[in-house]
Amino acid sequence: MPSKPKLAVSACLLGQKVRHNGDGAEVRGLTKSWSRHLDLVGVCPEVGIGMGTPRAPTRLVKRQGRMHLIDSKNNDDLSQKMVDYAELQSDALTKAGICGFVFKSASASCGLERVKVSEDGHTALRNDGTGLFTLVFTTLNPHIPVIEEGNLGDPLQAEHFLARVEFFSSWLEEARGGWSAEKITQFHDSNKLFFISRSPNAKRNLGRLIAQAFDRGDHPENVAFEYMAAAQKSLNVLTKPGPIAHAMERVLGRISPNLSVGERQEMLGVINEYRRGLQPRSAPLTLLREHVRNCGMDNETHARFTTPTPLRLDLLANV
Ligand code: SF4
Repeated sequence: MPSKPKLAVSACLLGQKVRHNGDGAEVRGLTKSWSRHLDLVGVCPEVGIGMGTPRAPTRLVKRQGRMHLIDSKNNDDLSQKMVDYAELQSDALTKAGICGFVFKSASASCGLERVKVSEDGHTALRNDGTGLFTLVFTTLNPHIPVIEEGNLGDPLQAEHFLARVEFFSSWLEEARGGWSAEKITQFHDSNKLFFISRSPNAKRNLGRLIAQAFDRGDHPENVAFEYMAAAQKSLNVLTKPGPIAHAMERVLGRISPNLSVGERQEMLGVINEYRRGLQPRSAPLTLLREHVRNCGMDNETHARFTTPTPLRLDLLANV
């Protein structure tokens, strides 16, 4: 049985009592549902740098253009400790093969966006910071998908994040044994429907990136990294029903010679209902998958698009 993809999570979200007040902040969707399909790896950066629990809260302060992590009780500057820890932990997590990271929102260490920042010498707070651990992790790993826990409550955002995690997991699988020009091209080709449905320009742009990198003579390992960083950047925007319906119609076009007129009309009707918001995405996808299988055309490219994992299929019933 293949191992479950690994997902790093701010440890308090798993219910671990590591918050400054001695509590956890469990997200039950993660601990009760996602944990059945993903291997969740808890990380608490503040405990990681040796802070006890309970402890004083931390805050972000901007001094001369640089962000600092400050212990709000004794004003100790924890920035260098946190940066050193974040670099080591990022390295360990990527070596362990994590495929994504769920961060606790609003935290001076873990928040992804809109974290409160005060300007040194001023009392006014701005809401445009990123937690210091997260800042280091995302800078070192632009190819790994990330999300804040608050967005997991939205099925559209949760499904899209999961799709990016699974896409990354398949890239890690392919990476075993090393990358070659042929493997990268094949990987891109087998994900073309995924890109058409989620980021229509990405398929062409990434194809060009691969071609230009090999024209320059870049090493395949570097090309593969550059490819995934650019792919995840392009996937950082939520998709809409239009591109997804378009990708479904492309699959339908390929299998149409094997369908009766009635089956084709029915399939087109369900896709249109999805496009107009009258059906969830799972409805046309499930029907399409059945037709693809019955026609014996469940190749890798079709399967990656029409066969979501069970966890994603649950979410697709609500988007
Ligand atoms: S937000 Fe981050 S640093 Fe704070 S308790 Fe949770 S895991 Fe630890």
